[in-house]
This record gives sequence, structure tokens and C-alpha cells, in this order.
Amino acid sequence: MALDEAFGDEVRRWLEEHAPRSLRGTRRGRFDGFWGGRKATGVDPDVLRWRDMMAERGFTAPTWPRQYGGAGLSAADARTLDQELARLGLPPAVVGFGLTMIGPTLLDYGTEAQKRRHLPAICRGEIRWCQGYSEPQAGSDLASLRTRAVPDGDAFVVDGQKVWTSYADLSDWIFCLVRTDPAAKKQQGITFLLIDMETPGVTARRIALISGASPFCEVFLEGVRVPRAQVVGEVNGGWTVAKALLGYERSMIGEAIGGQLATSEAQLVSGARRHLGAAAGPLPDPSLRDAIVRNAMDERAFALTIERARQGVQSGRAPGPESSIMKVAGSELKQRRWELAVRIAGPAGLGWEGPGFAADDLEATREWLRSRANTIEGGTSEIQLDILARRVLGLPSGKEAGR
Ligand SMILES: Cc1cc2nc3c(=O)[nH]c(=O)nc-3n(C[C@H](O)[C@H](O)[C@H](O)COP(=O)(O)OP(=O)(O)OC[C@H]3O[C@@H](n4cnc5c(N)ncnc54)[C@H](O)[C@@H]3O)c2cc1C
Repeated sequence: MALDEAFGDEVRRWLEEHAPRSLRGTRRGRFDGFWGGRKATGVDPDVLRWRDMMAERGFTAPTWPRQYGGAGLSAADARTLDQELARLGLPPAVVGFGLTMIGPTLLDYGTEAQKRRHLPAICRGEIRWCQGYSEPQAGSDLASLRTRAVPDGDAFVVDGQKVWTSYADLSDWIFCLVRTDPAAKKQQGITFLLIDMETPGVTARRIALISGASPFCEVFLEGVRVPRAQVVGEVNGGWTVAKALLGYERSMIGEAIGGQLATSEAQLVSGARRHLGAAAGPLPDPSLRDAIVRNAMDERAFALTIERARQGVQSGRAPGPESSIMKVAGSELKQRRWELAVRIAGPAGLGWEGPGFAADDLEATREWLRSRANTIEGGTSEIQLDILARRVLGLPSGKEAGR
């Protein structure tokens, strides 16, 4: 028996014996699960048991080295594990920005002490991380950020404000970009810092949205003392680290969308049958048939591309500017998919909540609205296209082209 088959058999037996029955069949995707952290309350005991037993075997970060809490698996074995989880409908035991963004970045750029301190806690789902990049005047033009960090002995003192910081109120630590050299060219004066949200001077405030629910916060940093040991990479060299993390983020957004799209063809067809009153046979509207097939083909092509990209990341190559392909293609594909779902639902696609709307129609409205944010978060589509034009295709910028 080949080694990978032996691993598959072993993992299948282990999951069948140990995985909590209550969680089987609850999987919604590779990035949908327990976010962990010290502030998580009222968590189902089976979810906590599942997290602990998976973390114990290193299966929450299967390809990370064992000494940092991973399982040291090859890309192929990690894929087998994921397939076995999917087969039983089991959710990932821990999810979040620790596993998908700051963890891989620390593996690439962190000191040994930073890796030993942070990575095992991420694998065990003990610490939840948030991302302190955007500022009120620095979104697409991230390098113009103004949060200042001034050296003071063996620490930096940080003052400034971050915005759109998803789930900062539920997070324990924040990874942050700060300006350490105001005189340098803007990308060259930035440092990448890790900050404990409990440090005096850190305040996270929720931003209320019209829907009532909001993942967003603004984070205020007032005289926050951050030890120099919490700098990732070089002082004033944070832009390199920041870009590497964005590569992981953009790949993750593309991959998450790829996973969500997997069942969409069947959903679109069943929605169309319900709304058009066509229980069997071909759907009556040929343009709709065409749109559903076109969507299905695009989704399959995207899923295969994601799979190839995933193999690249798991074999230890940090995603470069090419990750923007996944981000822009996935987020725009998702928008087209939910546009189609809402078009199929007709007036039923206007529901937000309340009686008179089927659960699938409510999901379509909400996902359609949420998909608008996918082309903004992690860098807008315009910015991704600019990165692809300049850094992947090597095209000249407008200025270089003489415009
Ligand atoms: C759901 C969601 C979650 C988020 N979570 C986080 C988070 O956790 N942490 C964090 O730091 N940030 C987060 N953000 C913020 C996100 O990174 C920014 O919204 C994004 O980078 C865009 O910046 P902005 O909102 O300032 O828009 P702007 O930069 O003001 O852009 C406005 C418009 O102008 C266009 N534009 C700007 N510059 C150019 C250009 N050079 N060429 C062509 N077009 C251009 C943009 O494409 C956009 O359409 C989140 C955003 C969303 C929607």
C-alpha cells in the first residue's frame, strides 16, 4: 500500500471513531468554522472538543512544522485530510486570520521566538487575530498610512487610527502597519508590528452598519508601548512583509469563494425550477439555461485553478502578485453567481427577513449584498488589475507610458 493511501486509511478510521457526531454534516467550507480566541463565549462543547482533538494531532494547520503546532504533512496528505473531513461533512476545527494570514507570514518572516510564541496558540485556536492595515486616508493607497511608531528604549510608542478592522472587538491580537520613518519614501518608512489588544491605549469600537449587524471596527492607538521584539522583519522593512501577507489573504479569499461556489449549479437549477414552475424537463427560458451553464463552466474552471494554486502554497512557495488573479476572478465570479440567483428569484429576491420568503431566497439576497464587499476587501478589483498589469504582465504604468 502506498504511503499516502496508508495515511488516508488511518485518518479515515481516526475521524470515524473520534469526530463528534453532532458536527458531522455541518461543514460549509474550508474557512467556515470556529474562530477561537479568549473572547469566544457560549461555544458548543463539541466544537471545543473537536478543536482540542484536532489541534492535539496538528491537524488544524496540517502543513505547518510540528514544532510550531502543525502536523508537518506533505501537501498531498493535507489534501487527503481535507477530503476526509469533507466526506464526513466536518467543519475545520479552527479558522481565522491566524491560520490564513499572520501564521504563514510568521513562518516566512518571524523570528524563532515569535514563531514559538504565536504559532502554537494559533493552532490551538487560543488567540484570535485581526488585521490593522486600512486607515481613514489609506485604503487602496495603503502605503500612505499615517499611524506613527516612535522608538523609545526597547519599545515603540504607537499613535494613530485603523478602520474597517474586521472583528477587532472579538480579537486578542492585531497585526499592524505603522510609519516609523516619516521622511523616507512612503513604502520604505513602514514597519510591521504585532500588538496585544490588551495593551493600554488600544481601543476597538464597533462601526454600526445599516443592516444592524457589523463585522467592522475602528481601532484607536493612543500612546501604545510595543516591545521591539514584536516587530516582524526589519524596522522600515514592513512593506515587504505586508505584501507577503496580502498574497496569503488574496489567495485565501479566492479559495474561500471557490469552495462556496461548489454546489451552486444545483442550487441555481432548483431555484429556477421553483420560481419558473418547471418541476422537470429543460428550463423554459433558453437565456437562463445559457447563463446557468456559463456560470457552471466558469466555476469549474475556477475551482481547478484554485486547486493548482493551493498546491503551490502548500509546497512552501509564498503566493506572489499572481494571487491577485484568484482574488479578482473569484470575487467577480461570486458576484455574477449571486446576481443570477437574485435574477432567478425575481421579486422573492428582494427579501431580507421575515415571513413570505424561502430560506434559499433570503440567502440569495444576503449573499448578493455580501458579494459586493468581496471586490473591495483585501484590495479592490481595480487595484488587483493594476498589480496584475504591472507586476505580473510587466506592462508600463500610465506615467511610464507617457500618459
Ligand atoms: C468586508 C470588508 C472587510 C474588511 N476588513 C478589513 C480588515 O480586517 N482590516 C483592514 O485593514 N481593512 C479591511 N477592509 C478595508 C479594505 O481593505 C479597504 O476597503 C480597501 O482596501 C479599499 O480601500 P477604501 O475603502 O479606502 O477605498 P478607496 O481606496 O477610497 O477606493 C475607492 C474607489 O476608488 C478606486 N481606486 C482607488 N485608487 C485607485 C487607483 N489607483 N486606480 C484605480 N482605482 C482606484 C477603488 O478601486 C474604489 O473603487 C475591509 C473591507 C471590507 C469591504
